[in-house]
Amino acid sequence: MSPQCDNCGAHVSPVFKRARSDNDGVLHGCPECTSPATRARDCAGVSSAYQQRTDPDGQTIATDGGDV
Ligand SMILES: [Zn+2]
Repeated sequence: MSPQCDNCGAHVSPVFKRARSDNDGVLHGCPECTSPATRARDCAGVSSAYQQRTDPDGQTIATDGGDV
């Protein structure tokens, strides 16, 4: 039986399943249902929801480094 994404049901390779599953063997995302950025955030253990970065004063931090 070919492994499947537990989120969308798409077939994935055994290597992908083993590498991307969590400790319970659940695969939360695959290339069919996530973006690379989402998968990277999931691996890092942070929220995959989009969040605007702000400094301690609440000012938006430019993700391109601004004018500095
Ligand atoms: Zn999927």
